[in-house]
Amino acid sequence: MDNYHQSNVVIIGGGPAGLGTALMLAKRGYKEITVLEKRPSADYYEPDKSFSYQIDGRGQKLTDLLELTAKLASLSVPSTDFYFTLIKKDGSRKTSKLPIADSSRKTAYWLPRASFVQLFYDEIAENWQDSIRVLFQTQCSEIQQNGARLKIIACSEDGTQFTFTPKLIVGCDGLNSIVRQTLHQWEKGKSHRFEMQQFDSPSAGLKYKVLTLPPQFPLSEQEEDRAESTMAYGIRSTFKERSKSISLGLLPFQNPQQPRTANIITYPDHQIWQIETPEALTNYFQQAFPQIPLEKIISASEIARFLASDGGSFPLPQYCSGLYQIWNQTNDRATAVILFGDAVHCFPPDIGQGVNSALEDVYLFHETLAETKDKLSQALPRYQNLRQADIKALIRLVQISYPWQYNQNPLQKRLWSINFFLRLLLNRLFPFLFDPHSFLLIQQHELSYSEILAKSDRTTRLLVIFLVAIVLALLLVPKII
Ligand SMILES: Cc1cc2nc3c(=O)[nH]c(=O)nc-3n(C[C@H](O)[C@H](O)[C@H](O)COP(=O)(O)OP(=O)(O)OC[C@H]3O[C@@H](n4cnc5c(N)ncnc54)[C@H](O)[C@@H]3O)c2cc1C
Repeated sequence: MDNYHQSNVVIIGGGPAGLGTALMLAKRGYKEITVLEKRPSADYYEPDKSFSYQIDGRGQKLTDLLELTAKLASLSVPSTDFYFTLIKKDGSRKTSKLPIADSSRKTAYWLPRASFVQLFYDEIAENWQDSIRVLFQTQCSEIQQNGARLKIIACSEDGTQFTFTPKLIVGCDGLNSIVRQTLHQWEKGKSHRFEMQQFDSPSAGLKYKVLTLPPQFPLSEQEEDRAESTMAYGIRSTFKERSKSISLGLLPFQNPQQPRTANIITYPDHQIWQIETPEALTNYFQQAFPQIPLEKIISASEIARFLASDGGSFPLPQYCSGLYQIWNQTNDRATAVILFGDAVHCFPPDIGQGVNSALEDVYLFHETLAETKDKLSQALPRYQNLRQADIKALIRLVQISYPWQYNQNPLQKRLWSINFFLRLLLNRLFPFLFDPHSFLLIQQHELSYSEILAKSDRTTRLLVIFLVAIVLALLLVPKII
């Protein structure tokens, strides 16, 4: 069955960028907005995608605009209350406040991805049903050039086919964006604007899987010694060898009844990924973590699910320079296409900017629409001019800011720490000359990514100059004396 649907705006992808765009446009007065989302629901639980987001000041520009920051806060653990307990291999524990955070920054909020996406969806369901329609279990399968307009073809789980010929198409469909790939196909031979340019990173290619643990799981045989939902944990294994040792990383949740998720992130050739039977995996975990009562924490069904799951791997940092396209610009039947979020910039989660940069894209597009009085033919090129340099800078920041945090190489991690603390010290002593490390600067949401990279590069240049001057002085002074 083919259903033609009238829609001014079609947004492909109902993740943070897609639902955020729908709400932003509805707030600006747009009507007939359709969101196509292939997943079954906003809070659909996928064990290997159950990571936590930290919505920082940058992401909050959009939640402030949508008047959702107070609700966001009520669902989250604030960065000001972020405590981390390290459970060492001998069972001893050390609790500390969030490491490496700028105490003067705007409070950031930690919550599971599913809760964040559901927050946006609840707002649509409660207040914007007359302008926004979200079609779950509906996948965009093709975009066609159909005379003057572009035609979107989508298919739902039950086989119903939908077609749309909107004025504005928004691609918020993540890394493997069909919208971006279609634009790339159409541009072939003319330009590479919609082709992802990829860059190296020491964290790209690391493999991850997520173990689901019960809420408030026991930490020892003592009945009342249980994990606190709002506490982050790092549980270290007893293994020493690089190919065997692992760590369980747990981020805090506000809801005490929510199952906990423990991330396992390590090299693709690590022993844990070679294990093939539930017995061998149970045995491996028991040897790795004798300091916690594993038999009470990890069920046989979870072991089987973990084993069967493909997990995921961190992508290479990548972006494309083209952010929009307009068809038949001279015609009043023009179709505009714009891309946000992972569809145009994607990278490993080292600096927690995936969701924040996606939300900032949407916020900046809102500002551009306001400046151009919603004239799409002016707003789209203006947005691209504004955002292109920031996206390029963001990808560079991902490469340099904290890629060694996953214990891939102890020496590199140590060198990173020396560099980090040297910049911190020099900034405290000579704030007019040196800036702190880019990992800290990213937390200053008022600065654009380009400004942060410029500050970081300036400090690097100064450090090189001082280093060369010191070496020359050491070489020359003894000769003069
Ligand atoms: C392991 C891991 C950990 C991460 N941790 C963090 C973190 O700590 N902090 C952080 O900021 N970011 C993190 N990220 C990155 C973050 O998840 C993304 O940057 C963010 O989700 C981007 O949002 P988006 O809306 O652009 O894309 P997505 O969240 O990918 O949403 C795209 C949506 O489009 C839908 N879709 C795709 N194709 C179609 C189609 N053809 N038709 C219909 N629907 C479609 C998908 O189902 C999906 O819901 C992490 C990513 C990974 C993989």
